[in-house]
Amino acid sequence: MLALPALAAVVALAASAATPSAAATTPRTFRVDLFHTGTATTEIFSLDRLVLEPLPFPGRPDRPLDELGLGKYHFEVREQQGDRLLYSRGFASIYGEWETTDEARGLTRTFSESLRFPAPAVPVKLVVKKRGPDQTFREVWTLRVDPKDPFVDSAAPASPGPLLALQRSGSPEQKFDLLLVGDGYTAAERGRFEADARRLMKALFSTEPWRSRRADVNVWGLCPPSEQAGVSRPSTGLHRRSRVGASYDAFGSERYLLSFENRTLRDVASFAPYDALAILVNSETYGGGGIFNLYATVAARSAWAEYVFVHELGHSVAALADEYFTSETAYLPATDRVEPWEPNITNDPKAAKWADLIRPGAPLPTPWPKERFTLRAREIQAERKAIRKRNGPEREMDALFKAEQREETALLSPLSGQVGAFEGANYEAVGSYRPQADCIMFSRDPVPFCAVCRRTLDRVLDLYAAP
Ligand SMILES: [Zn+2]
Repeated sequence: MLALPALAAVVALAASAATPSAAATTPRTFRVDLFHTGTATTEIFSLDRLVLEPLPFPGRPDRPLDELGLGKYHFEVREQQGDRLLYSRGFASIYGEWETTDEARGLTRTFSESLRFPAPAVPVKLVVKKRGPDQTFREVWTLRVDPKDPFVDSAAPASPGPLLALQRSGSPEQKFDLLLVGDGYTAAERGRFEADARRLMKALFSTEPWRSRRADVNVWGLCPPSEQAGVSRPSTGLHRRSRVGASYDAFGSERYLLSFENRTLRDVASFAPYDALAILVNSETYGGGGIFNLYATVAARSAWAEYVFVHELGHSVAALADEYFTSETAYLPATDRVEPWEPNITNDPKAAKWADLIRPGAPLPTPWPKERFTLRAREIQAERKAIRKRNGPEREMDALFKAEQREETALLSPLSGQVGAFEGANYEAVGSYRPQADCIMFSRDPVPFCAVCRRTLDRVLDLYAAP
């Protein structure tokens, strides 16, 4: 049913790239594919390939510079002659997470990444910066890029199938373009992908600030067919060569879904205009992931898919930190206590970065029933682990999460609406604080994003969507 308008959309996008007037105002999308290699203590960037993507650059032309200060990394595109800054964006990466795991202490690994920017008219310098121990950015890699280099690959990759225009609000340069890529859906399951995509969109647009900003967002869908249904879940011996390579058990965490197949994913995604990307995985097993300016993932058929989708987009769109502190993660505890850069966590309850949202006279840190909450959360973690260990049916996990949700909501709802500094955040029970007792970045409870998370999402949407 949607194939015809979707194809028409592809043709229209391709045509706008080809007409001289559009080409003069909207450059195509340039992409640097790179390898990010190292250990916990060494880090090397190297060039993989230069790509001129088929479509125009979808970003807002009057907001080429990112001054929001989000992300562990930041890249700049500067003219080689004169050093003028043309484009910049904050980002995070799989490597940036992996280097904080135990595995990185004893193993060298390479992850593939991409940086996208408007195709330059003149030779440019790509400068990658990373935060140092004091959280300020320092240069870690520079690459000279000549857009006329004969090795810039301008060929269209193999088609991933028709582009679905799931919600079209306006031209990609004036809107925030969210692309949903299906993984582990067979050709016969294309309809299932579309139904999953529409269900998740509905959940997203019922949540502030997405609800108010709906007209600022385009949503696109691509579903390259996989030969078999589902994706890899190595901890249960399940391996699949799904089309964009999503897999459970990333960094040994059973619920963590990532794709390490960056080249393939980018080639697929290059058929849609996108400022943000989410991978919808054809699975009922709870899971997801989200990395700032890379992508979000979600097990689209899990009972918790709607919640996970909105939560993971919080990470991937707005660099929001996890506000929870009782779940196990693969990351080693931070050894320093410098103020984290993430907008929704702080080490300093008295001078929280969201102080302007706190009612004068509110107690800081803000009291909340932390002991009771933590005790119960630990019990639930233990039950959860036991269910996974015996490979119990997913409905047992769902029932456990439902019970947790009921108890937590009852415990935290008397504090709803209060902004303060609540101890316990960012995987740390002590010395790390979150803005409100409950938030989509804290729990699976039926609550909104906290005021700080909403404000950050709004700021990022402004970077892409013209008023
Ligand atoms: Zn929050």
